[in-house]
Amino acid sequence: MSINEEAYQSIAEELLQKNVKLVAVSKTKPIEAIQDLYNLGQRVFGENYVQELVEKQPQLPGNIEWHFIGHLQSNKVKYIAPFVSLIQSVDSIRLLKEINKQAQKNNRIIDVLLQVHIAQEETKFGFDEGELDNFFNNNTNDLQQLSSVKICGLMGMASFSDNADLVRKEFRHLKTLFDKYNRLKLPNCQLEVLSMGMSSDYKIAVEEGSTMVRIGSLIFGSRS
Ligand SMILES: *Cc1c(COP(=O)(O)O)cnc(C)c1O
Repeated sequence: MSINEEAYQSIAEELLQKNVKLVAVSKTKPIEAIQDLYNLGQRVFGENYVQELVEKQPQLPGNIEWHFIGHLQSNKVKYIAPFVSLIQSVDSIRLLKEINKQAQKNNRIIDVLLQVHIAQEETKFGFDEGELDNFFNNNTNDLQQLSSVKICGLMGMASFSDNADLVRKEFRHLKTLFDKYNRLKLPNCQLEVLSMGMSSDYKIAVEEGSTMVRIGSLIFGSRS
C-alpha cells in the first residue's frame, strides 16, 4: 500500500493555484504513508478518530497541522486539546463549551469550524440551519464567555450521490450561509474558512466557493 504521488502532486498544484487549502485525510492509514506524503511537502492532515490521532501524532513530525474532522465526543476533547490545530466538526454548543474549557486548561486558543448539516442523509452530524441561525443570532453573551475558542468558519458534507446538481446545490447553500454569518460581528468569531469537498466532489465544491477541501482516498487509496 502506498500513496498516489501523481494524484497528490496534481491536486496540490490545482488547489494551490486556486488558493484552496488541502487537508490530506489520513484516517485508517499507517504512519508510513503519512510520512511519505509529508516528505512530498504536505503539512496538513485530517483524522476522524481520537484514539487513532493520539497514537499517530507523537510518531510524526511536530510541525504537522492536525485537523480533527470526525464526530467528537465531549469526554474525548481533552486528549487532542494539547496539540490539535483545527477542530472542523463542532456540532453542538455543549461540545464547543468543552473545547473552550480544555483549551483554557492547555493555555491556548483552539480554532474550530461549526459543522453544518447540508446533506439529505439523516445520519450526518451537524447543526441544521435553524440551529445555526439561533446560534449566531442569540448567543452573543455565550460567545463572549468562550474566549479560548475561535470560530473560524463552517464545514459541511454534501450527500453521497452521483447527482452532481444535488451536490452543487448543497454546497451553494452552505456558501450562502457562510456569506450571511460572515457579515455578523460576533465575539470570538471570524468566519474565513469554508471547508467543503472530498475526493468525489471537491471540484464542484471549489467551483462553489470552498476555501478548504478534505481529500483522503484520491491520495491514499481507498479505505478497506
Ligand atoms: C473520510 C472523510 C473525508 C475524506 O473522504 P474521501 O472520500 O476519502 O476523500 C473528508 N471529510 C470527512 C469529514 C471525512 O470523514
